[in-house]
Amino acid sequence: MKQKIFVLYTGGTIGMTQSSAGLRPDTALVDKALSPFSDGLDFEWHVCQPLIDSSAVTLQNQRDWLELIAKLPDYDGILVLHGTDTMAYTANLFALSLQGLDKPVILTGSQWPYDAANSDAPRNLATAVSAFSLKLKQVAIAFDGKLFPAVGSSKVSTETAAGFDNLHFGALAEWEENKGWHNIRTAPTQHSDGLKPRLPNPEAKVSVRTLIPGYAAQELSDGLPHLSTQALILQSYGHGNAPSNDAFVRAVQAFTQQGKLLLNISQVPQGCAAAVYAQGDALRQAGIINGGKCNLETATALMTLAVSHDWNADKVQQELRQLNLL
Ligand code: ASP
Repeated sequence: MKQKIFVLYTGGTIGMTQSSAGLRPDTALVDKALSPFSDGLDFEWHVCQPLIDSSAVTLQNQRDWLELIAKLPDYDGILVLHGTDTMAYTANLFALSLQGLDKPVILTGSQWPYDAANSDAPRNLATAVSAFSLKLKQVAIAFDGKLFPAVGSSKVSTETAAGFDNLHFGALAEWEENKGWHNIRTAPTQHSDGLKPRLPNPEAKVSVRTLIPGYAAQELSDGLPHLSTQALILQSYGHGNAPSNDAFVRAVQAFTQQGKLLLNISQVPQGCAAAVYAQGDALRQAGIINGGKCNLETATALMTLAVSHDWNADKVQQELRQLNLL
């Protein structure tokens, strides 16, 4: 029996063709991309209207895709074709949203269009399609012969075919055309009582600030009282370290006392915001949440769902623990 795969084509470079204004998404991909793999698999395409460059993705797009996935009748897996720019953001949001997932949701795309000379698209598609044989029950990114768990993944290159990585959790498995899957590190599958998606509210207001030496901390202290966002991600230094002068600590305290969330993550690609240094103690007392191994993409998904579902700091910490981020 052939496996039935639902293909959600959202856009991205993988299917782009040249126009007078530059590369833009195109539907022509549908007729060619997956035909080499149709021996063991039946693909049913859903082509989004319009197809987008993923740098234009909105929370409404992501919510629409999640709603579509949640309502799908029986499929053995879901393949999401997505631009690389925000693929890791969508993958993280899908992973946190799709509670009780009982099938693989594999995202892929490419650095160069399918029809370009030496494009990485055919190899990425082959990696993604082969991933359905692993029978995962999770969201993953297939790219350049590697399968990454969504949580913790980031786009790391615009210059080479190795566009993605997951510095904290590594690859779930590696794939080569002549070797198949190897270095498999997938966890045993868990029983699911059925899909219970937690959808993002398209109106959720989450913002991010990055600390740099100089004016940034003062700008943040001055700006916090006027920030209209319900959750703020702070990209601090190293182990989650930040200046803790009185003005900054007071501003953080006033922000969190309004019931708003302030998630502290490290700006280091493989950083962990943990309570290692006394330096951060005043900020922790002021209500800042240490995001542990959260990268920006995971933090964005977490804060978006937190705002959408009115989670408090304790609930955020519980989610961080469940995701093995603390
Ligand atoms: N701008 C493109 C996108 O994210 C980049 C890509 O797909 O590689 O849609």
